[in-house]
Amino acid sequence: MGSLSGPVLRVDAAVLHANIAAVSARVAPSVLMMVVKDDGYGLGAAWAARIAVGAGVGWLGTYDIPTAILLRQEIGSGPRLFAWATSADEEIDAALRADVDLGVGTLDYLRRVIARAEALGAEARIHLKVDTGLHRNGLSAAEWDQGVAEALQAQEAGRALLVGAWSHLAEASDEEDDAAQARFLAAVARAGELGAELPYRHLTASAATWARPELRGTLVRVGAFCFGIRSADGPDLPGVAPAAELVATVVAIDGDAAVAGIGSFDGLPSTLAGRVRVGTPAGPRTLLAVEPDAVRVASWEGAAVGDEIVLFGRGASGEETPTTLAEAIGTVGEEILCRLTPRVRREDC
Ligand SMILES: *Cc1c(COP(=O)(O)O)cnc(C)c1O
Repeated sequence: MGSLSGPVLRVDAAVLHANIAAVSARVAPSVLMMVVKDDGYGLGAAWAARIAVGAGVGWLGTYDIPTAILLRQEIGSGPRLFAWATSADEEIDAALRADVDLGVGTLDYLRRVIARAEALGAEARIHLKVDTGLHRNGLSAAEWDQGVAEALQAQEAGRALLVGAWSHLAEASDEEDDAAQARFLAAVARAGELGAELPYRHLTASAATWARPELRGTLVRVGAFCFGIRSADGPDLPGVAPAAELVATVVAIDGDAAVAGIGSFDGLPSTLAGRVRVGTPAGPRTLLAVEPDAVRVASWEGAAVGDEIVLFGRGASGEETPTTLAEAIGTVGEEILCRLTPRVRREDC
């Protein structure tokens, strides 16, 4: 059955729009930076960015610079773009030309960004990252004064604007996150003493943003919840729903199974078989097997070639959401969505 066509991802602009409105309302007066990394959590970064801007979002976070450049072309010059991957000089140059805000977490990267701004006669918009305990990236307490001083010196020379401070939380326990926030606020206060204003202060991603208002800064960076992916084992999110469904078409009825083609799509872990239900025209049915180019589903009265099976979605036909699918095999919803490569066909609904 090697010629079976793959599943279709139906992305729902109205749902994404409503999710963004719900998240924005919940976080106010903090401002939403919508994170669209990993190709917009599998739904399409450019698609998501257009809808976000239409919904009034003024900040988009991309992780890497190439995605930010792509989005700048897509959405024009108004909204701010934030890329935080430590990047090569050619990418820094492209970011400076496209007016992308840069997240900077090492002294070496800070110096390279400033050097590239000097070389191009540009002004780099910099958000300095504080190491608040994850020790992955971020200026340590010992490096902080030096980083702030060098950024301010570049600002005096017209080659930088030190606009923000940021960090990332482990979200493992409230106590750890509280301690991280205390380190973050101390760094912001110290930068103030050194003469930096830092209007943009951001620390939290989806879970902490939603549940812990006291940790929010002037900006919050929210990805998963905007796309309707709730946390595994986390609370329900009022006003927020999965913004896409993955649909396959029945190609054969084989005894007690309806067989639906998934082509070369290899994004469904075979360990899901027997553990989850998918949506069918007759309601939820057990997923029996995931094969190289097809799935087998417990059949139903009147099942026919051409019927649609919803592999995951919002639950409208009894299917799992990305998160409940993920919970069945001990992972997170992002993991399921990030298996959707750009080769999976998209349809707007
Ligand atoms: C992925 C990411 C986010 C968004 O995380 P969600 O849990 O999807 O909201 C925010 N900030 C950073 C640095 C990230 O890498």
